Amino acid sequence: MTHAEQILHDVFGYPEFRGQQAEIIDTVAGGNNALVLMPTGAGKSLCYQIPALMRTGVAIVVSPLVALMQDQVTALTVNGISAACVYSGTSSEEIRRIADEIMAERLQLLYVAPERLVMPRFLQFLHQTNISLFAIDEAHCVSQWGHDFRPEYQQLSILADQFTDIPRIALTATADTATRHDIQHYLNLTEAPVFISSFNRPNIDYQVVEKNNGKKQLLQFIRSQMNGQNGIVYCLSRKRVEDIAAFLCENGLTALPYHAGLDWHTRSLNQRRFTQEDGIIVVATVAFGMGIDKPDVRFVAHLDMPASIEHFYQESGRAGRDGLPAISWLCYGLNDWVLLRERIQLAERDATQKQIDLQKLDSMLAFCETAACRRQLLLHYFCEDSQPCGHCDNCIDPPQKFDGTILVQKLLSCVYRVGQRFATGHVIDVLRGRDSEWVHRFGHQQLSTFGIGREQTMKEWRMVVRQCVAAGYLNVDIANQALQLTESARAVLKNQQQVWLRPLKHDKTRTSHSNDIWLRTEREERLWQQLREWRKKRASQNNVPAYIIFADRTLQDLVQHPPANVADLNHIYGLGESKIKNFGQEIVELCQQWAN
Ligand code: ADP
Ligand code: ZN
Repeated sequence: MTHAEQILHDVFGYPEFRGQQAEIIDTVAGGNNALVLMPTGAGKSLCYQIPALMRTGVAIVVSPLVALMQDQVTALTVNGISAACVYSGTSSEEIRRIADEIMAERLQLLYVAPERLVMPRFLQFLHQTNISLFAIDEAHCVSQWGHDFRPEYQQLSILADQFTDIPRIALTATADTATRHDIQHYLNLTEAPVFISSFNRPNIDYQVVEKNNGKKQLLQFIRSQMNGQNGIVYCLSRKRVEDIAAFLCENGLTALPYHAGLDWHTRSLNQRRFTQEDGIIVVATVAFGMGIDKPDVRFVAHLDMPASIEHFYQESGRAGRDGLPAISWLCYGLNDWVLLRERIQLAERDATQKQIDLQKLDSMLAFCETAACRRQLLLHYFCEDSQPCGHCDNCIDPPQKFDGTILVQKLLSCVYRVGQRFATGHVIDVLRGRDSEWVHRFGHQQLSTFGIGREQTMKEWRMVVRQCVAAGYLNVDIANQALQLTESARAVLKNQQQVWLRPLKHDKTRTSHSNDIWLRTEREERLWQQLREWRKKRASQNNVPAYIIFADRTLQDLVQHPPANVADLNHIYGLGESKIKNFGQEIVELCQQWAN
């Protein structure tokens, strides 16, 4: 066993490294710089934590969010590692205590907010300190291309200038090349090796459904597949967040709202309950999530379409960080797309940036509309080649496309007949021959296309419209939402091109989970419940989230391999020396009492 493997096993209780962790640790522990691009949940933290334990001195970790720092420090402390954090709210006594710990060479990791780190006094202190390495977490914050730009991150170039001999490792989950170049530039890492991991999240299943009654669909999804599990539901507006949270509560679920309009107290209370309790659903705008390090989120539901694939990937990626099966569920409608386009147009950004945003939105719609493997498309977007995954909705239940040319021709010519000046609802009324007030007002019952689409329902026509928009035959006018023909519509109307559509009658909400869920026997269930109770008690005694005490995976392992004595615990996932020392005896007793 290498020294790094020894630490992984003894301190963290994990049997082996994942992906490129071993190589990265080797590089940094050897005194070299590194740039690490790894998706959320892949295990970036160990890449600097283990080198920090292998080298002498204290490791300085730059992190942008207080919540994130505190979480990490708690998790390290429970594993018997000496760590602390400093940010603007840290008291001066606490800072003195930390400084003493560092001077006595007892502290192994110090988390620091970037604005703190670049203060002259702090730098001066660092110069008198034995430093093992610098880790710059969430390194994409240096880049204006990203969505979390922090000007103070750019000042971190100081580290390269002033501490030439100390290795620097920068880590991020943002993959695009522009951001990567900015990180290399500002942190002076152009010469350093770059470690890029696959962005595939194999334990996340993707399910996409077309919206007809979003609320009901959501409730059905949770009830049929996710009862009693932790989850996050994302919506586009604050009002909708409130509405959906109330709706879920009325239906017997524990749902908490979270958005920037709530007062600080409510927000932190809800966030706390989510991280510490079990079976909680947070309904949120995108304001919620960054800095939430909860590994056992079992589902992320999008009740509205995200603005880009990057957003979708980041948000859905908050599910299943512990590697156990999780679901990303997305419910989308054409109205979401129209609303988001409007937002982009109204935003105060320059024309090029708006163009980029519109393109990103269209890629997102294409992801929703695709009949091919969702994962393959997602990875392709991040420049990664892959085979169909076999466990997204389209792989499990491939949509049988049909020749929809005639339907599409009917729709396109109706759009043309009404002068490309009317929104979807009215166009469909004309197609279906409805006697509406507007039809009369504009004399549209006289049109040759009036009533030529009676066999299709309103809902089915909406699906045709959406597919035509996604395929680029129709455009929606930003100003008045009127449907308009595009250049490519011509070939379809002239019978020069066939159009294949996804089926119109299809409800994709499945009732069973496609991944193998661990099915517990009655005996296992008993022990499982006892362990969860024990964990809850311990967590509240120590005032830390339950997963910091023991991860779900650890409990599962204990139930499946109940230990007969403390030595057996060395083979349990996630148990290092410190946890075994603190909890080992109790756990063995509990298992002995309930496992038989
Ligand atoms: P990231 O920062 O990349 O989002 P984390 O570093 O928080 O991810 O790791 C996610 C989870 O995976 C944590 O619970 C961590 O302890 C666990 N983990 C990391 N590396 C390993 C490994 N080699 N074996 C088992 N679990 C690991
Ligand atoms: Zn697939």
